[in-house]
Amino acid sequence: MSDAPTRYTDLHLLPLAGQWRAGAAGRTLRDDNPYDGSTLLEIAQANRDDLDEAYRKAAEVQPAWAATPPAERSALLLRVVAIFDQRREEIIDWLIRESGSTRLKATIEWGAARAISVEAASFPSRVHGRIVDSNIAGKESRIYRSAIGVVGVISPWNFPLHLTQRSLAPAIALGNAVVVKPASDTPVCGGLLLARIFEEAGLPAGVLSVVVGAGSEIGDAFVEHPVPGLLTFTGSTPVGRNIGSLASGGAHLKHVALELGGNSPFVVLEDADLEQAVAAAVFGKFLHQGQICMAINRIIVVEPLYDAFAERFVERVKQLRVGDPQSIETALGPIINARQLRGLLEKIAGARREGARPLHEGGVQGQLLAPHVYGEVTADMEIARDEIFGPLVGLLRARDEAHALELANASEYGLSSAVFSGSLERGVAFARQVRAGMTHVNDIPVNDEANAPFGGEKNSGLGRFNGDWAIDEFTRDQWVSVQRTHRHYPF
Ligand code: NAP
Ligand code: MG
Repeated sequence: MSDAPTRYTDLHLLPLAGQWRAGAAGRTLRDDNPYDGSTLLEIAQANRDDLDEAYRKAAEVQPAWAATPPAERSALLLRVVAIFDQRREEIIDWLIRESGSTRLKATIEWGAARAISVEAASFPSRVHGRIVDSNIAGKESRIYRSAIGVVGVISPWNFPLHLTQRSLAPAIALGNAVVVKPASDTPVCGGLLLARIFEEAGLPAGVLSVVVGAGSEIGDAFVEHPVPGLLTFTGSTPVGRNIGSLASGGAHLKHVALELGGNSPFVVLEDADLEQAVAAAVFGKFLHQGQICMAINRIIVVEPLYDAFAERFVERVKQLRVGDPQSIETALGPIINARQLRGLLEKIAGARREGARPLHEGGVQGQLLAPHVYGEVTADMEIARDEIFGPLVGLLRARDEAHALELANASEYGLSSAVFSGSLERGVAFARQVRAGMTHVNDIPVNDEANAPFGGEKNSGLGRFNGDWAIDEFTRDQWVSVQRTHRHYPF
């Protein structure tokens, strides 16, 4: 392997309308490490004028970018992949330091973002128009597929690199220009690092801008700006709802793709392999401290297996190491920020207040929160109803398979889900009855593959990412008909 390239510098600057410069808001964002509180960077934030410039420049340069030959756009994405490989350690290091990812999670995230980049490299040659028959004599109906134009991307802090890249890479590959607003906790992983990578790969200036600024300050302007034709948002359901109504409820009718909260049920039927189910539950719950939209939120175990499952699960959970995310031995690193930690401690207090039975309660130290497990949880308790997004979980006792299904579907969310059974076909039959965008048989609900449709039902969102589904989301259809012969009109 060749030597790693020199690490990127000046990551405090924003790529705005074709130039790297400071934002003009006159306010500084302190980007800190959630594990030790150290300051990584200070970033001058962008204001609405910066945002406006970024969108206008994107609209100006997009037609030329869309007109570049498909092979050239593919080649750009393949160079992005090569840079991901050369800078693997640098990227993983940023994920650990900025987002509190353990080394394992950072490596998984690097891999997911790389995989969607590889997939996106094939998109330019997978965009197909159509010709359909017309009922009118002499007419030909052509359906052209082209780039939407400018796409606005808003991403969260939990998988910042991947959840930005899963919009950014397809959008760029398909000929769009993009403006990204990363989460304020992760401006580098969610935007600035990717902008450096795309620039190094040869993306023309202005096709990608990154605005760093608080969602509460520039969020509405980001969504309501007349330029973007599509907004993709990954984050919480309340913010997503607001974005959906601003983007297509009032003055504007823009396309939106929304990936929102989840409340994944993990169902263990009585014929499941206990050891496999427990191993899956531990990983599917506690990876990234449970801060994953697809993370297990409720563990539903059918009666005959409940006690044995609970005992073995707690035994395994007690062995998980909580600590420095840089260490390869660490299973759980820090919670992203003080506000999230406070919210989790309130959920723990709520679980006790509502009568959930404590099976294991780890400690709190700084931003580190060790696992908490509760038994005899019922569907009406807050830890079953709400999205947890942290390292605590409740076990629900189901009388039988039908009751397990009823419990699994008793949620306003429908993102991911999982079911364990000794019979694969029984598992599939159960899966087909779960109202969710994604259900995994004999595996964890946390799965994301670049060629499979990713998205949710109910209050978990609208639209699908990845594969053919991303090609649909990031392009538009236009019906162009051609009347070859004179047509006789009735009057
Ligand atoms: P969040 O508060 O909704 O923030 C997500 C993004 O939206 C951030 O970039 C945030 O910017 C921005 N934002 C905040 N207020 C805004 C506004 N009024 N207008 C426009 N943008 C605004 O969510 P979070 O707390 O960071 O992330 C956790 C949530 O995201 C969980 O509910 C989780 O389930 C969901 N999530 C879903 C998926 C999925 O694929 N379905 C993946 C990951 C996370 P600031 O940081 O500047 O506030
Ligand atoms: Mg931070």
